[in-house]
Amino acid sequence: MVDTVATDSVVVCTQCDTANRVAAGKALSAGKCGKCGHPLATPHPVAIDGQTLQRLMARDTGAYVLDVWAPWCGPCRMMAPAYEQAAARFADQVRFFKLNSDENQSAAGGLGIRGIPTLIAWDKGRMVAHQAGAQTGEGLMRWIRSTLGLNA
Ligand SMILES: [Zn+2]
Repeated sequence: MVDTVATDSVVVCTQCDTANRVAAGKALSAGKCGKCGHPLATPHPVAIDGQTLQRLMARDTGAYVLDVWAPWCGPCRMMAPAYEQAAARFADQVRFFKLNSDENQSAAGGLGIRGIPTLIAWDKGRMVAHQAGAQTGEGLMRWIRSTLGLNA
């Protein structure tokens, strides 16, 4: 069985910033950007910068999760494999992004980051969770399901 998005959504392409409509009942990972043809979701976390994040926050109404991390952060590295697994598991419904807080300090500051890693989730155009601290394995899967209301 293929997981699908629950409601009609506007999904911003992180390659070209075009806003794409995705209808309820469609699998996100099957969608392609109408302008550049890039897949709207991949089974891997995608690195974005502060500017792309601004565009997502301004226009996107789909479900997405952001990992705010830094290369020197041990707990961030500890969480990375579970985050990869989550991106693969939920690719049909949720997009997974990473923001390097060293390279995007003003964006991280704007998000009110006090410690890393911090996971932030958005759904239907609103920030729905802001969680500091590493989560691993099934704990991360449960957090994503409960935060975004997924049955999968
Ligand atoms: Zn595009």
